[in-house]
Amino acid sequence: MSDTRHTRVLIIGSGPAGYTAGVYASRAMLNPILVQGIEPGGQLTTTTEVENWPGDTEVQGPDLMVRMEAHAKAMGTEIIGDIITKLDTDKRPFVAHGDSGTTYTADAVILATGARAKWLGLASEEKFKGFGVSACATCDGFFYRGQEIVVVGGGNTAVEEALFLTNFASKVTLVHRRDELRAEKILIDRLMKNDKIEPLWFHEIEEVYGTDTPLGVEGVKVRHTKTGEITDLPCKGVFIAIGHAPSNELVKDVLETHMGGYVVTKPDSTATSIPGIFAAGDLTDHKYRQAVTSAGMGCMAALEAERWLAET
Ligand code: FAD
Ligand code: NAP
Repeated sequence: MSDTRHTRVLIIGSGPAGYTAGVYASRAMLNPILVQGIEPGGQLTTTTEVENWPGDTEVQGPDLMVRMEAHAKAMGTEIIGDIITKLDTDKRPFVAHGDSGTTYTADAVILATGARAKWLGLASEEKFKGFGVSACATCDGFFYRGQEIVVVGGGNTAVEEALFLTNFASKVTLVHRRDELRAEKILIDRLMKNDKIEPLWFHEIEEVYGTDTPLGVEGVKVRHTKTGEITDLPCKGVFIAIGHAPSNELVKDVLETHMGGYVVTKPDSTATSIPGIFAAGDLTDHKYRQAVTSAGMGCMAALEAERWLAET
């Protein structure tokens, strides 16, 4: 049966940005509703140890997100397991359509739908995700001290990740499908000067291989894009850095985006080009993409929504 719910603030997304917005909006007595989406808890539920969340030397990603959910709930956020399939922003209150059939009307909306790393789409890549295959060097690089690592991609992210990983790895091989990087010149310059990095041009990953017990990567088979020749490249870590896709489907036609789809917010603010719609976390962030920065933006969005509602 269809149902309509009204809220002062609708939070879309249940990663660090969404739950933090929930905590702050609840404490502002706005009785927010938070819709979790297809991945309750967000990207951190796809990883194991998180070692850079302040206050926890080490915490399992899924555990951290369960705690964030409980915190938001305890403060008064109503958390709903639903997916928003459409958001009408041309009139107020804003109207969000839930996959469940519920319609949510809201005086203000906080978008916290995050971003998804792009993957190669190989079955072997899927098998070793979280066990040697990663899309986040900042998060997982530390686990490969003294080991050989492969980074895949030729953009800014791949080059930055390769450079960052030299802090830990004995050797980083940058596997790129062409012989030209699309990264900025200054980054390419740093890459070429770094003795620990070896580019492997005109190659793509054919397969990731490793052990089953314990699950872990032992290497990759790479294919030459011109000759088709397959070569074996032993390594313990494979970092896929072929771009991130912000989950902007709800607003890509109505809000300004840049850098490949990230929602543009006003300087030092989470306000978007539509008054009353705020955006926080990886959805807006092509640069840092961390749990703590997302949480910080979730806080900002709730405070800004509270002020905006008080003034309108
Ligand atoms: P996300 O966590 O991406 O959450 C987005 C949320 O939006 C999800 O709950 C999803 O269900 C919801 N959603 C999307 N579309 C809809 C919709 N239509 N309707 C309703 N809900 C919707 N960062 C660190 O700081 N430390 C780490 O160690 C670390 N490790 C990582 C390991 C991995 C494998 C990955 C992938 C990322 C890692 N990160 C880490 C990055 C971190 O996870 C992200 O920066 C952070 O989760 C972004 O938070 P967010 O709230 O913006 O969005
Ligand atoms: P990107 O610029 O889109 O580059 C993706 C790279 O991955 C490209 O080199 C591409 O190869 C390669 N690739 C894509 N799909 C592939 C596949 N299936 N197999 C093998 N390789 C594949 O992505 P990004 O580097 O994440 O950057 C995204 C945006 O964020 C860009 O606008 C970038 O400038 C920005 N960014 C900026 C900074 C910074 O300012 N410091 C840092 C990071 C990102 P081809 O080159 O052959 O297409």
